[in-house]
Amino acid sequence: MRADRHSGTRDMKGLKYRSVRYVMLSGVLASVVYLALGRGSRSFEAYCPFGGVESLWGLLTAGEFTCALGPLNVSLMIAVLALALLAKKAFCGWACPIGFLGELAARLGARVWRRRPSVPAKADARLKLLRYAALTVALWFTYRTSELVLRGYDPFYLIFSGLGHGSAGVLSAAVLGVTALGAFMVPMLFCRYLCPMGAVFDPFSRLGLIRVHRDGSKCTACGRCDRACLQRIPVRELKVVHHRDCTNCLECMDACPETDALQLRAGR
Ligand code: SF4
Ligand code: SF4
Repeated sequence: MRADRHSGTRDMKGLKYRSVRYVMLSGVLASVVYLALGRGSRSFEAYCPFGGVESLWGLLTAGEFTCALGPLNVSLMIAVLALALLAKKAFCGWACPIGFLGELAARLGARVWRRRPSVPAKADARLKLLRYAALTVALWFTYRTSELVLRGYDPFYLIFSGLGHGSAGVLSAAVLGVTALGAFMVPMLFCRYLCPMGAVFDPFSRLGLIRVHRDGSKCTACGRCDRACLQRIPVRELKVVHHRDCTNCLECMDACPETDALQLRAGR
């Protein structure tokens, strides 16, 4: 294993995009916590676009929502998929509370463990197939039983419900503990390898219209963008970031020392 230098905290001239992004993400996180504490009129589970995917079968076959899910989940699913067609996985980088917690864990992990080992590229590509397996398993069980059977292994549910109703006790706690520990060691572990919504996003994200563009005449190939990208996208080698995993988080643009070498715009 080579050393992981994707800390995202070094070599930066400023953090202007991250500052805006973190304000937004903090607002989302605070809202979900507020709902999770029972203060709002809805369950925090309403803020889950994957709930919309899980509800589709029940809606189409019986006209009913699955378990605790409702119209908001479907509306959110449609909205985030439309957003992906426009701006790739921007939902993940700008509005997902689990992505935010994963990012904070990755940054903390980088501070504690400056040269943490990194997953080799081949293994990384294979591990990303797990999110399709997670999607298949989640939909298979949900569509067969009309229950959120895998809720007990879903970090979003486990964290915000406080291992609440539907969790599998010690097993759920162990799954959450391992996922949390892994988030410190492997940046964006859950998002990259296990998130079923990430798998749903993939084809939409590939088409996403607004992308990071690199101007080769201004780029000095310093590699700061590569090191800043928590998704391990080799920005320095690309003219346009088409990569399905790009969340348009703009960390690469924050890191780039050259004016306009990286720009966010629509087009090929
Ligand atoms: S785009 Fe910017 S950060 Fe990336 S290699 Fe070129 S100059 Fe360096
Ligand atoms: S390529 Fe840039 S915008 Fe895309 S995920 Fe990586 S750092 Fe974020």
